[in-house]
Amino acid sequence: MTKYDYLVVGAGLFGATFAYEAAKRGKKVKVIEKRDHIAGNIYTKEVDGIQVHQYGAHIFHTSNKEIWDYINQFAEFNRYTNSPVANYKGQMYNLPFNMNTFSEMWGVRTPAEALEKINEQRQEMAGKEPKNLEEQAISLIGRDIYEKLIKGYTEKQWGQKATELPAFIIRRLPVRLTYDNNYFNDLYQGIPIGGYTQIVEKMLNSELIDVETGVDFFDQKDDYLANYPKVVFTGMIDQFFDYQLGELQYRSLRFETEEKNVGNYQGNAVINYTDAETPYTRIIEHKHFEFGKGDKDKTIITREYPADWHRGDEPYYPVNNQQNNELYKKYAQLAAEKANNVIFGGRLGQYRYYNMDQVLHVALVAVNKEFK
Ligand code: FAD
Ligand code: UDP
Repeated sequence: MTKYDYLVVGAGLFGATFAYEAAKRGKKVKVIEKRDHIAGNIYTKEVDGIQVHQYGAHIFHTSNKEIWDYINQFAEFNRYTNSPVANYKGQMYNLPFNMNTFSEMWGVRTPAEALEKINEQRQEMAGKEPKNLEEQAISLIGRDIYEKLIKGYTEKQWGQKATELPAFIIRRLPVRLTYDNNYFNDLYQGIPIGGYTQIVEKMLNSELIDVETGVDFFDQKDDYLANYPKVVFTGMIDQFFDYQLGELQYRSLRFETEEKNVGNYQGNAVINYTDAETPYTRIIEHKHFEFGKGDKDKTIITREYPADWHRGDEPYYPVNNQQNNELYKKYAQLAAEKANNVIFGGRLGQYRYYNMDQVLHVALVAVNKEFK
């Protein structure tokens, strides 16, 4: 047996929060991480004075005061408000769907005019219960917006027809009859000044925590399970069980990052390309997350390409359709029966499309359960 009380697999937000809370209670923790850095998908790295979001745009937002106070222990947040703009075949539209979008789309000026137009467009779904993402989008906002701002983006992102995707994916997006481009409805929102990595660094900075990067749990799974009294696992739950009940589906991404010799490339942190032909879904320009901070003659942009997932690829998104959710439940059952010294947590361990605030919440739930 080792001198540690816990082995945490994965130095992402879930694993780091658990390790921090365990160490606070005097427990000794070993953290292993297969990448060559900590922080999982929230990892940011400074280049030319710009914080680069290595795994895509990360904006922290929550309505939960407890979670907001919790994360603020580890960093000071700026006042960034996410306001992506959509580029559909060269035409620019504000997001989320609000009076600016409706005005750009239809030339309407007042909420009453916009509502009249939306209601007219919703008619084709009148009396019908939306059964998939396409029907949900049309019944929410009408065909024009669906065709220009949703269909192409969604089908690229998920690699499936919108008629085959679950409706809930689109319910994340607000629809507003005000001129308000804030992508989120949450009470609190921002980006940590100086990036996200410092948050995880501070969480793991304890004499009771040892971190090793470049180590894959599956290289010595049996030894780890035999030697550690308790394991916190934040990798893929189906891989943990050697896919014995079948494979869960994931969506992957490819990021192409480029330095440009201009001070301001696109004028916004996030621009979505919502047509079907452009192979990427969005371009992010990192310096705008911190209001242009960094080299004034240079900028860094990242194109985000959606990709199918095959074993060995990075599983960025769980695909929470009914079939996968049912299979996940079977794995969770197997975990309860066969692996009761393992806590499965986070986006991959719990197979849920969690945002950062939700990951913090479920990590603190796991902590409270473990140390009650
Ligand atoms: P992860 O960050 O994935 O951490 C898991 C860690 O475990 C990884 O570092 C992985 O390498 C490691 N690991 C896995 N298997 C093994 C193994 N076998 N051995 C050792 N280590 C292993 N959330 C927001 O709130 N706002 C946003 O704007 C936002 N934007 C996003 C954009 C993109 C493109 C993506 C992909 C996600 C976004 N998220 C956003 C979600 C956010 O990234 C997650 O909620 C959060 O990072 C999940 O933390 P986690 O610890 O569960 O998982
Ligand atoms: N979406 C869209 N057009 C956009 C942005 C988003 O149709 O310009 C849809 C798409 O289906 C996407 C979902 O809304 O998967 C959720 O978008 P969000 O930006 O929340 O996704 P994430 O940041 O998690 O990739």
